[in-house]
Amino acid sequence: MPQLARRMGQAKPSAIMVIAEKTRALKAQGRDIISFSIGVPNFLPGEHVYAAARAALEKDSGQYGSNRGADALLDAMLAHFERNGIAGLTRRNLCVGIGAKQVLYNLAEALLDPGDTIAFPTPFWTTYADIAAIVGAKTLLLPCPPEQDYKLTPAQLDAALAQKPKVFLFNNPSNPTGMVYHREEIAALAAVMARHADTWIVLDDIYNRMVFDEVGYHNVLAFEPSLRDRTIVVDSLSKTYGMPGWRVGFAAAPEHVAQAMVTLNSNHITSLPEVVSAAAAAALAGPQDIPAAQCAGFARKRDVVLAALAQIPGVRCPRPEGAFYAFPDVSVAFGRTHGPSGRLIGNDVELCEALLESAGVACVPGSAFGEPRALRISYACPDAALAEGLARIQKFFAEFE
Ligand code: PMP
Repeated sequence: MPQLARRMGQAKPSAIMVIAEKTRALKAQGRDIISFSIGVPNFLPGEHVYAAARAALEKDSGQYGSNRGADALLDAMLAHFERNGIAGLTRRNLCVGIGAKQVLYNLAEALLDPGDTIAFPTPFWTTYADIAAIVGAKTLLLPCPPEQDYKLTPAQLDAALAQKPKVFLFNNPSNPTGMVYHREEIAALAAVMARHADTWIVLDDIYNRMVFDEVGYHNVLAFEPSLRDRTIVVDSLSKTYGMPGWRVGFAAAPEHVAQAMVTLNSNHITSLPEVVSAAAAAALAGPQDIPAAQCAGFARKRDVVLAALAQIPGVRCPRPEGAFYAFPDVSVAFGRTHGPSGRLIGNDVELCEALLESAGVACVPGSAFGEPRALRISYACPDAALAEGLARIQKFFAEFE
């Protein structure tokens, strides 16, 4: 029998998708499941986005588009980066992708040879490890436990970059923790990055418009302009604009890196669809009140989640300041028996299974993100479902022996 390529031995299906599948199966059996598991924003873009899509459909050329991205979309992206304090770019610094996921995959192909090292903090978004495995890169994980609020310290970064990884991948605000680095923290990390010139810096900042509490979004480029020559900023419309299914991601990069991604696009995807490009340009260039209102709503939901978790003895949750995730340390439950059945909960995976099966709440085990003491709650759901799901979690934790 012919075999699959060796790289497939490395790639695993995403643990988030595994929980989502299990949830779907239980729902299909008629079970009432509250899903805190999937990272989708749960709102739709404004009418102006649909109007732009309809207008594009009316004058559809039926043709392939630009490998880099449609001009109007690139210009809207330039304005977006400028709003985020990254000015002075031109279209030649940009490249689109089918979501930030494909942009990150393009970057891995463009920057990493097999055997090269990519460093990133844990907890990390699951796909980072999988993409590294697919391109045959080694990972250097930088542990950021709940005791340090899941945040990387300048000393840790310094020690990691001293090992000269080819790429350092940094996610802010963070999925799965919701943590946001403050201005002075970004400044300190930027100073360390500037001292280590052998490493590409990839910033996965796709939640940059979802920051609460006046913390603001800050970017290392503002503090160390010299990093421009080796920093790539990845962004996406999925979360901010309620458009995950439209699949639009993009990056700002040094010209030759953007060009490498364009070349990869010409081989992988050719272009984004015309209708999608028009809708994406309208979302980026149009009124920004929907993303702003959603962000305020998420801040309020965050407070509800934290208040509920604070009532569970032994569960500790560093305070998220962005995105729509909370990542409580639930290790207090491990090694204990639960409910009348006396089910032993040994670890985060067993905890999430028991929560799903006996309480009807779907969360993602922290080990999927490299932190087995935690679980991820994605709270981008309607208020009533959020309240019900949190009440079920509280009841579940009260049922331990
Ligand atoms: N980066 C992070 C940190 C994410 O959470 C996600 C989506 N869950 C992505 C990238 C990919 O986003 P998309 O492909 O939908 O643009």
